[in-house]
Order: sequence, then C-alpha cells, then structure tokens
Amino acid sequence: MAARTVLHEADISRALTRIAHEIIESNRGPDGLILVGIPTRGRYLAERLREQISRISGTEVPVGTLDVTLYRDDLGRQPVRSPQPTQMPGDVVDGATVVLVDDVLFSGRTIRAALDALGDHGRPRAVRLAVLVDRGHRELPIRPDFVGKNLPSAQSERINVRVTEVDGVDEVSIEDR
Ligand code: 5GP
Ligand code: MG
Repeated sequence: MAARTVLHEADISRALTRIAHEIIESNRGPDGLILVGIPTRGRYLAERLREQISRISGTEVPVGTLDVTLYRDDLGRQPVRSPQPTQMPGDVVDGATVVLVDDVLFSGRTIRAALDALGDHGRPRAVRLAVLVDRGHRELPIRPDFVGKNLPSAQSERINVRVTEVDGVDEVSIEDR
C-alpha cells in the first residue's frame, strides 16, 4: 500500500522548535542539559534540537550519541545491527539532565536499553525522553516527556522517518508493511 505522509518538512521543523522550547521550560533554562541521540536518526534530531536551543537561549548544550545494541533484552532474538558509534561528551553526565532523543517510540525496549547504556557514563540528575513520533504499543512502563506527534498505529503498520542528513528529505509517512 502507498505510504501516507503525516509530517512534512515544515511540520517536523515546527515540532522540533516546540520541543526545544519545552525542554528549556521544563529545565528552567539550558544549564545542565545534555542531548543524547539514539542512532541512527535520533542523533540528527538531537543535533537539530541543539541548534534550536542555541538559537532560543544562546547556550550550546552538549550532544552525544549512545549505541544501545548490546544492552537490548532481545539480543540474540533478532539479527544484530552492526554497532553504531557511542560518542558521549566527557565528564558531563554526572548530575546532568539528560534528554534522550529518538525518532520513533514503540515498545519502549530501546529506551530501557538506553537507560542501561547511559549508566556506564555516569549518574544523571534526571533523564527525560524526547521522540519525534510516539506510535503506541508500549511493552514497558516508559512514556515520553516531549513528543513531536502521537501517531496511533496498527502493529502491522510501519512509520517511515526520513531526515535530510540521511535520506535527503525531512518527512514522516505511515504505510502497511
Ligand atoms: P522500541 O524499542 O520502542 O520497540 O522501538 C523504538 C526503536 O525502534 C527506535 O529506535 C526506532 O527508530 C525503531 N522503530 C520502532 N518502530 C519503528 C517504526 O515504525 N518506524 C521507525 N522508523 N522506527 C521504528
Ligand atoms: Mg532507531
């Protein structure tokens, strides 16, 4: 079946701008924030949020990426994707407010693994979650603090998230697989 576009470039841009404002508001400013993207596309979304936070507040917040592959509880059940680089800003996780950033939230297992992986880098004061799309179907008690768009989906559907840095275009579409 043909994919139906649910977010165009301008919608994504507006959502990320709003989320940047919400992150600053809930943290009462940009101090002590770290943005940590989950590869692949979460990393680029985290960098976009950094740009927006910088534009709004004048502060450059550190950005990292966290590969969670080896922390998954379904390791061995699914084909393992080749590990992506973890690049965490040094010595800043302790006491920081870490905002995990991912493109799609589904079962919650990736974020559970990210919490485990993050523990190797220090003890944050708090961890928050920002996602571009929440498609429902949670299997764990995890909920996002900042959401671009809630897209209730059927299990059989697939959300395609495209970002310019990887895919040459900013777009979210939904299709039956
Ligand atoms: P979860 O671990 O919550 O089941 O799935 C979230 C992770 O898998 C995210 O990193 C996300 O990139 C990917 N994912 C799960 N479902 C979808 C989907 O429908 N579309 C896309 N683009 N990614 C998904
Ligand atoms: Mg992903």
